[in-house]
Amino acid sequence: MKIGILAVQGAFIEHEKMLSEAAKKSGTPLECVEIRQKKDLEGLEGLILPGGESTVQGKLMHELDLFHDLQAMIREGLPVLATCAGLILLAENLDQDSTKHLATLPVTVQRNAYGRQLGSFAVNSDIGSIQDYPLVFIRAPYVKETAPEVKVLTTVDQRIVGVEYKNQLGLAFHPEMTQDTRVHEYFLEKVKAS
Ligand code: GLN
Repeated sequence: MKIGILAVQGAFIEHEKMLSEAAKKSGTPLECVEIRQKKDLEGLEGLILPGGESTVQGKLMHELDLFHDLQAMIREGLPVLATCAGLILLAENLDQDSTKHLATLPVTVQRNAYGRQLGSFAVNSDIGSIQDYPLVFIRAPYVKETAPEVKVLTTVDQRIVGVEYKNQLGLAFHPEMTQDTRVHEYFLEKVKAS
C-alpha cells in the first residue's frame, strides 16, 4: 500500500513512524512516500496532511505545483488523514478569514482557537469507535460548523475536534505525537476499504 505524506513542513516524520508501526501491527505491506514534488504523487492510495503551520504549507503546495493535483485527488476520493494544520488545509471555510486552501471538507474551522495558546495539553476521549484515545493539542484549531453529512467523531469541552466525511478524516489533535497507533490503523483500514 502506497501512502504519501505531505513533507514540505511540519510533523511528517512522526506520521511516517506511526504509520509504519500501525502497518506492522496489521500486517499491511507499506510504502511511505514523502511528498515534495509532483512526481511523488504517482500511484498514491492514501494521503496524510501533517500538523505544522497551515499558512506555510498552503503557500508551499502552490509553489511546488502540488496544489491542484492534490485537490483533484482528494475530490476523486483519495483517502486522507489530516491533523491540525492539515485539517485547516482541508476546510472549506476558515472562520473570519477568507483564506481557502484545498477546501474539500465541508466544515468551518477556527484556527488557533482550542485550548491554551502557549504550550500543549492532552486529554483522553473516544474517537468514533476508538475508545479512550489520548488527544494531544498544540495551538489547535476546532471545527465550528459542519455540513449535515459530516460525521462528528469526537468533541472536547463541547467543541468538535474530529470529523469524518467520506474519504476524509480531519483531526484537530496530533495522533502522531502519541504512542497509540489506533488512529493510523483506522486510516489504513479506510485505505484498504476504498
Ligand atoms: N496553528 C497552526 C496553524 O494554524 C496549526 C497548529 C498545528 O498544526 N499544531 O496552521
